[in-house]
Amino acid sequence: MNDSFAQKVADPQVAHDIRTVGDFVAIYCRGKHKDAARVPLTSDAAFLGVYGDKVPECCEECAELTRYAEARRAYCPKDPKPFCSHCDTHCYRPQMKEAMREVMEYSGPRSVFHGYALDSVRHAVAGMKARREMRGSSA
Ligand code: SF4
Ligand SMILES: [Zn+2]
Repeated sequence: MNDSFAQKVADPQVAHDIRTVGDFVAIYCRGKHKDAARVPLTSDAAFLGVYGDKVPECCEECAELTRYAEARRAYCPKDPKPFCSHCDTHCYRPQMKEAMREVMEYSGPRSVFHGYALDSVRHAVAGMKARREMRGSSA
């Protein structure tokens, strides 16, 4: 980790977005990776206290995705930042993009029970589905 990462996550909006991703990954992991060993996330953001006392629990595979997403969010060049699913210069590498799409589609509808605003979750999930359908129809 470098100083710049710590500076980036000191921004409350960046920290909030990282916490949201961490929560979504934890919901996904709890549902999809039932048999995996799930432990509190160790990551740069967790080390810096971004998650407070609600450090997400997940398996190592999901931890890797979360660490990757933390860095993407911290260094996002977009200002204002759109939903990643709506971004025209998506910065995730393909495998991680697909993994995050699965997480959002699984956890989005379920996250309502975890206190997330339904409208913004619907908005994000609908955007991803529309884009996938567009890709499918042009293939
Ligand atoms: S996908 Fe776009 S909005 Fe999301 S972190 Fe990357 S550049 Fe930023
Ligand atoms: Zn997992």
